Amino acid sequence: MKWFLVALCIIWVNSLDLEDNEDQLGDGLPELYDGDMLLTPEQKRILSLDGKDLWRVAHRNFAQRWPNKIVPYVYGAGPIDGLTKDENKKVREAMRYIESKTCVKFRPRQGQRDHLIIMKGRPGCWANVGRARFAKVNLNGPWCLTRGPIVHELVHVLGFGHAHQAPNRDDYIDIKWENVKDSEKSHLTKLSSKDWTMLSLPYDYDSLMHYRPNAHSANGKDTIVPKKPRVPEKRGSGTLSELDILRINRYYDCPPVEEKH
Ligand SMILES: [Zn+2]
Repeated sequence: MKWFLVALCIIWVNSLDLEDNEDQLGDGLPELYDGDMLLTPEQKRILSLDGKDLWRVAHRNFAQRWPNKIVPYVYGAGPIDGLTKDENKKVREAMRYIESKTCVKFRPRQGQRDHLIIMKGRPGCWANVGRARFAKVNLNGPWCLTRGPIVHELVHVLGFGHAHQAPNRDDYIDIKWENVKDSEKSHLTKLSSKDWTMLSLPYDYDSLMHYRPNAHSANGKDTIVPKKPRVPEKRGSGTLSELDILRINRYYDCPPVEEKH
């Protein structure tokens, strides 16, 4: 009888896991916010309350951070979601890179309820924003599996959105709406200061979370144009900006960057 109950519990827990995954993903490409962010049902609910409230979840509600500064992860498995050994290695390298700049750690899951699944079964590169029961990073295609996109998606998982949606962006960039695809205009909306905290850091043109100048362009012309000519920060491709690093460290209460290493 005891074993029967244990088996029943395992089946029940497994079926719950499956339902939660299925609920969130459905078939094909899931509904994504601003191009590559997968929202939990709770985040969607909050977003629907005032249409711009995502960042209360992502930035103001610190409960969405990963506890103990550790993101427990598993790799997706099987012919659909499983990454190759080489691809797994690239993901590990991106994790190590973030770890080398911050106090956040990515560690293989040890039974934690909330955890990250790294998979490639759906089209495109996208990720959950912040902690979730089945947070996902989907990396499908050669471009997704280069360091920049992997780090970008992992930073979403840490709880960050896109830098070009900052409430003070009108002081720094112009959005050329006439060049933006009609169907993608919602991807370039600005969020209110009520919902977004800059963590007392300045606007960050050089963020790995800032879209490129011709993002969502309908005609190849630039859609995001700096107000003043500027010299981009010099750094390697696919690397975090200095402010990205400060932002992650501040959000996760890390020791000051200069004290690390
Ligand atoms: Zn993104």
